[in-house]
Amino acid sequence: MSNSNSIVVALGTRPEIIKLAPIIRLLGDRARVVHTGQHYDATLSKVFFDAFELAEPAHRLEIGGETRATQIGEATRRLGEHLAGQPGAAVVVQGDTNTTVGAALAANATGTPLIHIEAGLRSFDRAMPEEHNRVVTDVLSDLCCAPTEVNRSNLLDSGIPAERIAVTGNTVVEAVHTLLPSERASYLARYQVEPARYLLATFHRPENVDDPETLAVILRELAALELPTILPMHPRTRARVESFGLGALLDQMRVVEPMGFQEFLALSAECGALVSDSGGVQEEVSVLKRPVLVVRRSTERPEVIGTFAERVVPGPDMSRVVGGWISDLPGLHQRLSSIPSPYGDGDAAARSVAAIDNLLGVE
Ligand code: UDP
Repeated sequence: MSNSNSIVVALGTRPEIIKLAPIIRLLGDRARVVHTGQHYDATLSKVFFDAFELAEPAHRLEIGGETRATQIGEATRRLGEHLAGQPGAAVVVQGDTNTTVGAALAANATGTPLIHIEAGLRSFDRAMPEEHNRVVTDVLSDLCCAPTEVNRSNLLDSGIPAERIAVTGNTVVEAVHTLLPSERASYLARYQVEPARYLLATFHRPENVDDPETLAVILRELAALELPTILPMHPRTRARVESFGLGALLDQMRVVEPMGFQEFLALSAECGALVSDSGGVQEEVSVLKRPVLVVRRSTERPEVIGTFAERVVPGPDMSRVVGGWISDLPGLHQRLSSIPSPYGDGDAAARSVAAIDNLLGVE
């Protein structure tokens, strides 16, 4: 649909596609998907549209590969021009990327109601660009869909009135339910690994990969772990490993291209543990009942710390914590299997669409 009743869903990166897919599917013909092109690599974009069987985006803005300021500015300018030419009933954004905040500003500038999916997350770490993207987007939004009560309370603390907030759960739960393969043996066979006898790692955050010393520490720690580690490598991380000359540190690991979502979920569901700086992975493990070591200075997802996740900074704590887990993986997996996900039961997309309809006065 491309008329003034359509709901413009603006997205640009892998996690936005994954978490907006359940909402786009529910909106059906009412959704007009605009891709900013922030992630232009097919392994981070097209494969996720295909996996969720989403139609090609209605419009593309091609802001990828630029600085943060340019990406935000261009997303605002180009989406603003698009909305001026083809108004929509609302703009939906997700998460904390440059696309999120750029599209939020475009909605604001064109007087289009704005909905923020996954609102109210806070790391309280002002060194993270994502934190600023979240705060600005929440404040501009007419409707904040908060995954948890923790997120609701962060929004209230930011001065956002209760009537602009709906607690919905996180759509990642239904994304996992939709695409987790039930047959997983063939995925493990590709890497010649046995269930629970390998680790899965992902890294791409600037705090971990932009400094050669820090990146080297992380790679050495991973290589020293007692189980084989599969490392699907983000293009940003690969570029840093090459420019810092750290390629030799990868020899101990199974380094592969970024995986499609089904493959990544299958390997997550069967692994011993994950080691990651990803946001979405911290949520997915609560559905898959596996532990993740979060390697970062901070997290905006405190709901899983102490159950599905522990957090450390790069260094010897990595092998200490994961080594402890490896000493009793069956016991750990058993304990996690009975803990419910703090992100809901898989009805976040339905709740979000109901809240959007309520905002827009749609019966
Ligand atoms: N993911 C994937 N393939 C991979 C690595 C990650 O499909 O090789 C998925 C993962 O399941 C999660 C998302 O990508 O849903 C996380 O993306 P990313 O770490 O880029 O973003 P963040 O969640 O940190 O914002």
